[in-house]
Amino acid sequence: MTDLHPELEPILAEVTHRNPAEPEFHQAVHEVLETLGPVVSKHPQYADAEVIRRLCEPERQIIFRVPWVDDAGQIQVNRGFRVEFSSVLGPYKGGLRFHPSVSLGTVKFLGFEQIFKNSLTGMPLGGGKGGSDFNPRGRSDAEIMRFCQSFMTELHRHLGEYTDVPAGDIGVGGRELGYLFGQYKRITNRYESGVLTGKGLTWGGSQVRTEATGFGAVYFADRMLRNAGHELEGQRVVVSGSGNVAIHAVQKAQELGAVVVAVSDSDGYVVHEDGLDLGVLKEVKIIERERLDEYARRTGAQHVSGGSVWDVPATVALPCATQNEISGTAAATMVRHGLIAVAEGANMPSTPEAVAVFRGAGVLFAPGKAANAGGVVTSSLEMQQNASRDSWTFEHTDARLRETMATIHDTCVATADEYDAPGDYVVGANIAGFTRVADAMIAFGVI
Ligand code: NDP
Repeated sequence: MTDLHPELEPILAEVTHRNPAEPEFHQAVHEVLETLGPVVSKHPQYADAEVIRRLCEPERQIIFRVPWVDDAGQIQVNRGFRVEFSSVLGPYKGGLRFHPSVSLGTVKFLGFEQIFKNSLTGMPLGGGKGGSDFNPRGRSDAEIMRFCQSFMTELHRHLGEYTDVPAGDIGVGGRELGYLFGQYKRITNRYESGVLTGKGLTWGGSQVRTEATGFGAVYFADRMLRNAGHELEGQRVVVSGSGNVAIHAVQKAQELGAVVVAVSDSDGYVVHEDGLDLGVLKEVKIIERERLDEYARRTGAQHVSGGSVWDVPATVALPCATQNEISGTAAATMVRHGLIAVAEGANMPSTPEAVAVFRGAGVLFAPGKAANAGGVVTSSLEMQQNASRDSWTFEHTDARLRETMATIHDTCVATADEYDAPGDYVVGANIAGFTRVADAMIAFGVI
C-alpha cells in the first residue's frame, strides 16, 4: 500500500482505533483513502467540511438477535446486521449476506464499498449492507424459511422503499428473497414492491436482475479490453465461485466468444479445457444446489479438491467468489501465466498485495466497485419498474445495463485521466464515486 496524504493519515488511524478487530473494514477504507490524496489537494472544501471523516462513520448500525427453530425442534440463535452507511444520494441500498464468516466488520466493509459503487452508477442510491452469520449450507427449505422470517421480523422496522432497500448477496438468492418479502408483506400489511430487489419475475422482480452482476462484470471487462486494443473473444477465462455472479459471468463471457475453462466453490475447482458446459453447470449448481465434483462426474471435467483456481492459466480472470481470495503470490502466478485483465465480480476479492502485483505488471484491473456495479444498476431499474408499476422486456433491461456499464467504464477512464493516472481504474472509480457523494454532503450541511 502507498503512503496516505497527510490530511488522510489521521482519518485512517481514527477508523482503525474506533473499529477494532475489523480488518476488512480497515482495508476497504485504506484502499479508498490511498487514492483520494489528489482530490483533497485540489478541493480543500472536502477536508474543511470533514467529508471523509464523516463518511467513514456509518449513519446507523443495527445488530439484532435472530432466534429460530431447526427441523429437530432445537432453538438456534444467530446474529443479524444492517449497516446503513450513507443516504445522501438515495435510500440505503445493498445486499444481505448469509454466511458463517459474516461479522460487523464484514458488513461495514461491504457497506462502505457500496457507497462509492452506487454513486458511480449515477443513480439515486445510498449505500448499506446487511446479513447474518447464519450458515445456509445443509439446511432444509423449511429451516431457511423460518430463519428468513425471523430475520425479517426484526429487520422490517428499518426498511422501506424510501428508507432502506436490501437485495441478495452470498447465500441470499431468489428463494431467500421470496421468504423475506413474504414476511415483510405480512407484518406491514403493505404490498411494497420497492422494499427489496432481486424479487421473482411473477411478483415484482425485474428481467436481468439475476444475471446482472455477472453480465455487467463481463460487459465491463469487454469494454476495458477494447479500450486497450484487445477483445474478449478468444480469451481464455477463469472464474472463481460458482454462485449467482460466477455462473452469469461464465454465460456472458461464453456468449461474447471467450473460452471459460474453470470455476470453483469452497471445496475446490473444476477445469474443463474445451470450455465449461453451461447447461450442466446451471443444472448442478442452481437447480440441484449440488457441489462441483458432481459437475465433473457428469461432464468428465477434472475436479481438484482444495487448492486454488488461480493456479489455472488464463488471460482474463473474473474473481466472483468472496473477499481476499487472490493473494499476492496467486497474483504473481497469474501474471506469469500471461494474464492481461482482471474484472472483479466479487467485492474486494484481490488482496492489496495482489492489486499491487497486477498494477505493477500492467494488467488491466477493474475493481469491484466499478466492475460488479451491474447488480445494483439493475436493482435500481427494478425499483423504477416497481414505482411505475411497469415491467420491461429482457432486451430493453439488458440494453440499459450494458449502456450503464459502458458509462461507468468511461467515467472511470475520464476521471483517472483528469487526475493524471491514465488507465488506473482504481483511482477512476474511487474518485468519481467519492466526489458525487461529497458534493451532496456539502450541499446538505453538517448532518
Ligand atoms: P452466491 O452465494 O450465489 O455464490 C458465492 C460463490 O462463492 C459460491 O460458489 C461459494 O462457494 C463461493 N464462496 C463463497 N464464500 C467463499 C469462501 N469463503 N471461499 C471460497 N468460496 C467461497 O453469491 P453471489 O454470487 O451473489 O456473490 C459472489 C460475490 O459477488 C460476493 O463477493 C458478493 O458480495 C459479490 N456481489 C454480488 C452481487 C449480487 O448481485 N449477487 C452484486 C455485487 C457483488 P460455496 O457454495 O462452496 O460456499
